[in-house]
Amino acid sequence: MNPHPLPTPGTPPEPAPLRKIAIEEHFWDPAKTSNDFAAMAQVSGVSEEFLEAALTRMRDFTTIRLDEMDASGIDVSVLSLTASGIEGMRDRDRAITAARHVNNFLAERIRESGGRYEGFASVPLQDTDAAIAELDRAVRDLGMRGVLVNGYVDIGDDEHAHYLDEPRFDAFWEALEELGVPLYLHPRPSSEVVRDALYRGRPELSGATWGFAPETATHALRLVFGGVFDRHPRAQLILGHMGETLPFFQWRIQRAFEYNPYDSRPSKRLQDYLADNIHVTTSGHFSSQALITALLTMGADRVLFATDYPYDVSTDAARWIEGAPISETDRRKIAHSNAEKLLGLSPATVSAS
Ligand code: ZN
Repeated sequence: MNPHPLPTPGTPPEPAPLRKIAIEEHFWDPAKTSNDFAAMAQVSGVSEEFLEAALTRMRDFTTIRLDEMDASGIDVSVLSLTASGIEGMRDRDRAITAARHVNNFLAERIRESGGRYEGFASVPLQDTDAAIAELDRAVRDLGMRGVLVNGYVDIGDDEHAHYLDEPRFDAFWEALEELGVPLYLHPRPSSEVVRDALYRGRPELSGATWGFAPETATHALRLVFGGVFDRHPRAQLILGHMGETLPFFQWRIQRAFEYNPYDSRPSKRLQDYLADNIHVTTSGHFSSQALITALLTMGADRVLFATDYPYDVSTDAARWIEGAPISETDRRKIAHSNAEKLLGLSPATVSAS
């Protein structure tokens, strides 16, 4: 007992609810069989029980998803087709038809949701012209806020993975610039060759544990050092999982790059592309240390809230960002206002900020 107690302090007002827009939230097209999903799951090193729960959640748009959004105080979820999506379909015609179907399906769910859902388009990059046409339709006619690409693209019988720094995709980047919408680069499992070389005997490391991050970070570095943002300076890329390690590693990458003997060099430093062309989200990475690294590297205007539903727990994401050791100004930017600006969403009429 303190012998000289101070008067009991008053109780400050409760903070207003933090408006949240979550932008890496996945769905599974119920019209499709789950064969591809099962294969992807196997290489992701998660249990069947986990997969079943994820699949049930991904197919739902009216009950579980909204309950979890409500419990997390998430006002709007920006939905996207889960990996490996259209990118994993080798057949060009099948990819074109599927992308159209998925976008129409998503547009219908958005329309029914009364403002709770927005969406990223899926596009058939197996055919660049068809991908541009579908992007245009999805953004202009269906109101999609950008596009989400699940990693590299499989094309026909070609056994090589196609990454988006290839010249064949230049016209697609140009279309993104013209429409003024971002591209969300989402992980998919590395190709079998890579998995066999790196993770043989250790499949538990090949998925979200670790393998997704180097796969996706390498893809992003191919874009940067392949000159995509020099050719398309207005293009905006979004990376999940707090930037797939890049905010932490950027200094060393640039340092070591300067020793390389090759001719191809972008016009700026990696740090500059991170500041000019790249955003990161908090999806599936609710670590304050990682958040602070991202903030110190990229600034608060380029970090956005996301949960990675249903692969991670929305309430954990929400409680974490509500209490993360950052300023209220940055918290509000991350939770909602950066997404409003980048994706062209209207601010809430009644908002906490
Ligand atoms: Zn995800």
